[in-house]
Amino acid sequence: MEKSERKKTLMLLKKSYYTIFSDVLNDKEDRVIFSTRTSQAFIVKKEVYDMYEAGDFMSLPQDVLEKFIQCSMAVPEDENELLAIVEENKKEIRDDTLMYESIQPSAMCQLGCDYCGQDHKKVNMGSELYDNLVQRLNAKAEGRNFRKLYIGWFGAEPLMGLKQIRELTPLLKDFCRQRGMNYGAKIVTNGLSLKENIFYELVNELSIDHVEITLDGTALYHDQRRHTKEKGATFDIILNNILSIVNNESYDRSKVRLTIRCNVDERNYEGVLPKRKRGYYHEFTVKTPGTRGRGARRIITGGEPASSGEYYYTDDHYATFKRIEE
Ligand code: SF4
Repeated sequence: MEKSERKKTLMLLKKSYYTIFSDVLNDKEDRVIFSTRTSQAFIVKKEVYDMYEAGDFMSLPQDVLEKFIQCSMAVPEDENELLAIVEENKKEIRDDTLMYESIQPSAMCQLGCDYCGQDHKKVNMGSELYDNLVQRLNAKAEGRNFRKLYIGWFGAEPLMGLKQIRELTPLLKDFCRQRGMNYGAKIVTNGLSLKENIFYELVNELSIDHVEITLDGTALYHDQRRHTKEKGATFDIILNNILSIVNNESYDRSKVRLTIRCNVDERNYEGVLPKRKRGYYHEFTVKTPGTRGRGARRIITGGEPASSGEYYYTDDHYATFKRIEE
């Protein structure tokens, strides 16, 4: 793009009202920028933060500016953002592709995460509510032509309500059959009770095609915050559950999507490598004197390290690691 043309385009941009920044993360004054419009976040250097805050899009590197535009952090100057968001929501509501419903089958959770804001009770969804739920779905579907019902099983911990998931799934599938709709579901679980047999029941019999498990980094970080109510460690139990699931011979055939969600904040970010595509990181063994095997020391590089400058070091096989500064 010609310089004058770029200038003209950039003058037509403004900062999004719905973008926020974290406090400074470190002594280099990096910050996290987060768009509440698109739920996109990444880390920016101090210079970029200053340019953005000053509305100086002209001085931003091209790739950063493109990211800002793509994440709706920089928006057209004449856009009424509130109206644009309302329009986007209306469009979603009018979309008949998918009817989405989230269900909390239990108010109980076995964990006592130190940041959990919930008050857990040993109360599960009663069968008297099943009819109400189906009525609600029928009311939502009235006059519409939905092609699929997709259920999100959430908690507290949804596996505390496994009985309810077992009982509700056939009713939900019946509802879909009557309306000529497809059925699918996902579950978000802390993974503690996700034994191999339960996982395959969820996938094969209860039509769950996406299982999301939450781990807060490596054992060192996870166990400090995602412990049982009695402060017992949970990382190894969850990891062993995951390993037996993926080592089962039917795992590949199941085509299920198994994802790990990692909550990252100022207390554990040093234990989590920045999220990148598969194959981005490469590890190199650093010899440990007196050890016969590979030992626990590694250097990890990110991308093309000559240009990315990303080098990390761990001396405890990923329990903790530090960025190597040039
Ligand atoms: S897993 Fe943790 S954050 Fe989630 S409901 Fe249980 S205690 Fe709360």
